[in-house]
Amino acid sequence: MTTKTQPADIEAQVIDDLVVANRILAKKGVLDGWGHVSARCPNNPKHFFMARSLAPALVTAADIMEFDEDSEPVDQRGRRMYAERYIHGEILRARPDVMAVVHSHSSKVLPFSVTDAPLRALIHMAAFLGDEPAPVFDTRVAPGGDFTMLVLNSQSGAALAKELGNRSVVLMRGHGMSVAAASVRLVVFMAIYTQINAEVLLSALHLGTPNFMDSAEIARSDRPDRGWEAWAAEVRENE
Ligand code: MN
Repeated sequence: MTTKTQPADIEAQVIDDLVVANRILAKKGVLDGWGHVSARCPNNPKHFFMARSLAPALVTAADIMEFDEDSEPVDQRGRRMYAERYIHGEILRARPDVMAVVHSHSSKVLPFSVTDAPLRALIHMAAFLGDEPAPVFDTRVAPGGDFTMLVLNSQSGAALAKELGNRSVVLMRGHGMSVAAASVRLVVFMAIYTQINAEVLLSALHLGTPNFMDSAEIARSDRPDRGWEAWAAEVRENE
């Protein structure tokens, strides 16, 4: 017997994935007490879901809020919100293909945001990084930025989205990175493997000259579909 999936079920699935994504990314050290992950609302594609201002390791379904296309809350009910929610709203506005966004302060990735060492695909699991250096967003020169180094308004978020362009990852100078993908599960995979690629690349740079993936290898690589179930099982164990 097949059961037709209802819109409410699809929404519940996205919210469940979003909660699990928070837990996985916290466990993997992509997010710590800070950073956040969002998902486009399946039933209202201009809106997105994201937790209230809370450490990602602690997020439950009850903490998920809905935001409109200007990153303003639909029903705030006194809840505190992430100051940098404009990162998510503006990337989702600029990129109709993107369904989920991660913003991280990963210390593994940060060195590539403050030097001329390019972050590129070095390991096959991170082929999505491509063979061109990841773009670096700098609030000192971007419109809407101030001296906080953060993305605190729509103008700054739009400038970040512009720097991201059609890529999956944008570095943020002295701050972190933002990752954009076609699903919550995929953005979790990409955020984790961007961090691993950065870690391996930093080690490789100590030993010699990195032998990066080339464009033919990148074009032929699949995005592995595994990982999520195992990662989700680990974070569900303690529930
Ligand atoms: Mn931040």
